[in-house]
Amino acid sequence: MTTNYAGQIPPGRASGRAGSQPAHSPAHLPADLTVHDKALLLTGADSWRTQGAEALGLRPMIMSDGPAGVRGVVLDERQPSSSLPCPSALGATWDPELVRELAAALGAEARRKGVDVLLAPTINLMRTPLGGRGFECFAEDPVLTAALAVAFVRGVQGAGVAATAKHFVGNDSETERWSYDARIAESVLRELYLVPFEACVREAGVALVMAAYNKVNGIPMTEHARLLRDVLKGEWGFDGVVTSDWHAARSTAGTALAALDLAMPGPDGPWGGQLAAAVADGSVAADVLDDKVIRLLRLAERVGAVLPGGDDPPGPPRVPAARADLRPAVAAGSGFAASPGPVPSLGTGFAASPHPAPALDPGPVPSLVDPALLRRAAAASFVLLRNENDAALPIDPALVGRVAVIGPNAVRPAIHGGGSAVVMPTAVSTPAAALTAALAGQAEVTVAPGCQTWVVVPEPDAGSLRDPASGEPGLRLEFRDRDGGLLAAEHRTSTALAWWDQIPPGIGWGLGGSITVITSFRPQSTGPHLLGAAGIGHLTLTVDGTVVADGATAVPDDPVEAMARPGEIRATAALEAGRQAEIRLEFRPAADGEGPLALRLGIVPAADEDTMLAEAEQAAARADAAVVVVGSPPMTESEGFDRRTLALPGRQDELVRRVAAVNRRTVVVVNAGMPVLAPWADQVAAVLYAWLPGQAMGEALADVLLGRAEPGGRLPVTLPATEADCPVLHAVPRDGVISYDEGLLIGYRGYDASLARPHFPFGHGLGYTTWAYESLRAETSGVAAGEDLCLVVTVRNTGSRAGREVVQAYLAAPPGDGGGAARPPRALAAFASVNAQPGASADVALRVPARAFARWDEDTAGWVWPAGRFTLHVGRSSRDLRLSTAVQL
Ligand code: BGC
Repeated sequence: MTTNYAGQIPPGRASGRAGSQPAHSPAHLPADLTVHDKALLLTGADSWRTQGAEALGLRPMIMSDGPAGVRGVVLDERQPSSSLPCPSALGATWDPELVRELAAALGAEARRKGVDVLLAPTINLMRTPLGGRGFECFAEDPVLTAALAVAFVRGVQGAGVAATAKHFVGNDSETERWSYDARIAESVLRELYLVPFEACVREAGVALVMAAYNKVNGIPMTEHARLLRDVLKGEWGFDGVVTSDWHAARSTAGTALAALDLAMPGPDGPWGGQLAAAVADGSVAADVLDDKVIRLLRLAERVGAVLPGGDDPPGPPRVPAARADLRPAVAAGSGFAASPGPVPSLGTGFAASPHPAPALDPGPVPSLVDPALLRRAAAASFVLLRNENDAALPIDPALVGRVAVIGPNAVRPAIHGGGSAVVMPTAVSTPAAALTAALAGQAEVTVAPGCQTWVVVPEPDAGSLRDPASGEPGLRLEFRDRDGGLLAAEHRTSTALAWWDQIPPGIGWGLGGSITVITSFRPQSTGPHLLGAAGIGHLTLTVDGTVVADGATAVPDDPVEAMARPGEIRATAALEAGRQAEIRLEFRPAADGEGPLALRLGIVPAADEDTMLAEAEQAAARADAAVVVVGSPPMTESEGFDRRTLALPGRQDELVRRVAAVNRRTVVVVNAGMPVLAPWADQVAAVLYAWLPGQAMGEALADVLLGRAEPGGRLPVTLPATEADCPVLHAVPRDGVISYDEGLLIGYRGYDASLARPHFPFGHGLGYTTWAYESLRAETSGVAAGEDLCLVVTVRNTGSRAGREVVQAYLAAPPGDGGGAARPPRALAAFASVNAQPGASADVALRVPARAFARWDEDTAGWVWPAGRFTLHVGRSSRDLRLSTAVQL
């Protein structure tokens, strides 16, 4: 627990509290604050906290990922988080109001966790469908991304938590993400990649911007004076804090002069004393340093981390009245006292024998996002791509006596992507369990996974493990020093473990200490079981006293892989149903590892895939409807690496084809954060894209499949028919360089330019009703440079159910308008949604912003409005344009 200010400015050094008046100018910085003091404030105190300073009345600010839930400073099942639909799912809602509502609930959860700064939203664009972090982005289009990003920031910040627009800029793929040089023309930056950042700054007042790892046009983004200082802070007037991505600040003066304000994490890094020295030797001007401190204090004011002035003596952090519910979330100070002494307990759990540790007060249970909201948002994001065979969806339980729920993701869904976006969900509703529950008493449900796709051996079912020390379900964890001395022990229930700061001293990369998992596993079946032990370092796996696997795993290229896809050693053991197997896994972290420590134990019965496929086929043949849930195996879409192919992993295509061949009412649900190829789509009755929908997946799916909710989503990214059709596919740097040669032609813009036919176009989504587009009126037939244009579109619900329509307006520029980069035939200019009852019509107002008509002129380095005849097309998707009108500029 943080019990005191971590700041290193001695109390009494600086007089006057920064909080007593706004610290918006150098005049308000205490005069006796030394350069050294100021420099110290600008590097993190640890992985997730900024420095506090008693003398300034400044408490540490706590930062946490991320975009699909707020993790807090620990990844720990005892402090779970709400797991939200991933950002690409939010993109699919095309619903800024829903995104704002969800972000506000996320902000409230962050506050209850003691988090001041949320490291979200990710507002890079889906340049390539293989981008590992594409699921963390909203869309392939800047206008849709900007609208949702602004809503997200407003929601989070409305709850009193600072949002962070990341990763500024050109961080659109993961391969060599720490170093690649994105070569992007200025007009392309301005018209595509900077658009969401500019909107977050100008329209939402985002509090932080995160400078990315990569370079842009030869300069590391943390040193990019032109983009950070001139464009972001100068042109756009950003008054917040530019933080580095984690460990992205790699120079002292270069980053300081480029307008980076905060180097994260800490306490090490290129600033601190070196920054003070740079100021002393004149390579960084004193007012440059002051500006950073002022920005940090302004952020502290915004989140309530600067305490009111007064003469109180130094003491523990005081929680401002508005934040009375805030509990320090850092448990680091919970007493990793150097041994000898009692064995301290980690976190909030079990006190290890033989010396019980003082119990930590777990405090109030954090308020979580309302599960009904998570469920509604997930359903709203599902995109119905196809619905044939007499409208296979929604399934009418009265007509189906037997339902087969099939597919690897039906039982083991991917609810979120890997990397910093991971949270420990409070609960997970799987498609198999939720559909079984929803159809109970109405239809018989059979579950058959059909094939195996996992890449690390899955975690054993929670109920199958027992902690031998306490007898409780779960496991015992022991932390030992290099000589085997017990440092700490605790009870846990998860076998997927990770640590940043909260680990006893002596355990870490190259420190020699070890972590041991001890548990009794009760198998449910007799036969060979596969065991997997994953972590970066040396692993020894023992079953009933016999070493079954022992070896070292390689240090990955990217530190986040320690969590996202650690090396694994495996063994097979013959186990007997009901007979406890004593399992012990010892882990000694590698000498040269980096980033968080992570350890994982997996156990599954070994399976024969031919048998699994045959069982699934038989279940489908016997059923009246087959729901096949396929997609990405958990953690295969992740920060830290790009995907290599768009094909579904393993034998999933074969599974779908075999099921479809024996069941006419085959509904395929795709559980993936980004595009996958669906070569079987026209052989099945229905296809529903479900993204990485968060913990409410199963319930939301049951709602949609059974018609209790409409699949409200529209594609925020084009689904290609083949990999060859993608305007940009692989983003592997060549000699460290990624050339954005496609210019403006990413996503649907590229398909429209090349005339390639997408499998399912950007903006597509059927819903459960049908719509007629009856009229389109522009408020004026001409528009002046710099002016918005208003449109009214009349649509009618021509189906038999109430529904929601997303009306999309695409603007085509006059031919031959020139400019630096080839122009897309059409670009999304505005969108709005409407709900209507069957038979009802509705007028939908759209405002096309002036910027839609503009282009960036490299010669004058400014926006220009080329005169000419523009055409506005309005419709249901980028390829289903129903009405158009001409507008003269
Ligand atoms: C990621 C950021 C994240 C940070 C802290 C970095 O590796 O790129 O998105 O916020 O780590 O987890």
